Amino acid sequence: MESQKQFTPTFSFELFPPQTPEGVEKLRATRKQLAQFNPKFFSVTFGAGGSTRDRTLETVLEIQAEGHVAAPHLSCIGSTQQNIRAVLEKYRLSGIQHIVALRGDLPSGMAQAGEFRYASELVAFIRKEFGSTFHIDVAAYPEYHPQARSAQEDIKNFKRKIEAGADSVITQYFYNADAYFHFVKTCEAAGIKIPIVPGIMPINKFLQLVRFSDSCGAEIPRWIRKKLEGYGDDSASIHAFGLDVVTDLCERLLKAGAPGLHFYTLNSAKFVATIWQRLNIK
Ligand code: FAD
Repeated sequence: MESQKQFTPTFSFELFPPQTPEGVEKLRATRKQLAQFNPKFFSVTFGAGGSTRDRTLETVLEIQAEGHVAAPHLSCIGSTQQNIRAVLEKYRLSGIQHIVALRGDLPSGMAQAGEFRYASELVAFIRKEFGSTFHIDVAAYPEYHPQARSAQEDIKNFKRKIEAGADSVITQYFYNADAYFHFVKTCEAAGIKIPIVPGIMPINKFLQLVRFSDSCGAEIPRWIRKKLEGYGDDSASIHAFGLDVVTDLCERLLKAGAPGLHFYTLNSAKFVATIWQRLNIK
């Protein structure tokens, strides 16, 4: 972690574009609460195959109009270069300067993979077509990507994104800090020198967390899983235990020199606000 310590910690919040007018209102209130923590940016997810394209743009423009830095996610799988160029051009004209560049996952039923195979190709495309207009974040997987052929191959593939021009990294969530520390050490040994910011997922609903974790390859350590299972429908206990686990994780990461924290807020400020108080972040 030595070389990660050189970065001043930054905090950012991830949101997803709401689907209903009520969701839009709720998200405005969430952002108002989260804004008091002075995040470096709010990022907004992009649905697989471009399904949230317009809503991502609308949300990002609202965030920007409120005076915050907005970073739209952009996934390339299933897209043509022309589509991606058009989205990026819209962002450029709107003054957006930060993109989270991803491969994404092909929606079921979509046979055509499009003109991009991997996120590294998207990063290279952005740099070729838009130069240094955008700060580019990419994704990393301290517990390795579920489709990776091996841990070693995954690191090699991850490095391609950095070599293609990524500026910083946000990780998939994890509850095992050692996996992150090991990942950072491996990246440093591979010559990767940019900030690798841990992604932090709240623990609120057990079944939802199991579903997310199964699909993205994040491990719920046995002791956490057993404890959560044992609470059954007792959501207050799940919430209290989840806060303890995640606060300890954040504390450990920051103490070891992690270059910040990126919170998967799930469009709610409550969990993050409590963590914030507990961590006493200035
Ligand atoms: P890549 O970096 O392309 O890697 C995908 C797989 O391909 C890995 O197994 C890698 O090892 C392998 N690979 C890469 N390059 C090569 C190569 N040259 N040859 C062989 N194999 C290769 N998804 C969305 O749809 N919308 C979002 O908004 C979104 N936001 C996210 C935010 C974060 C912080 C994270 C961590 C994930 C997010 N995702 C999102 C999920 C992401 O799209 C999936 O995890 C997806 O499966 C991989 O995307 P990637 O950009 O990491 O892919």
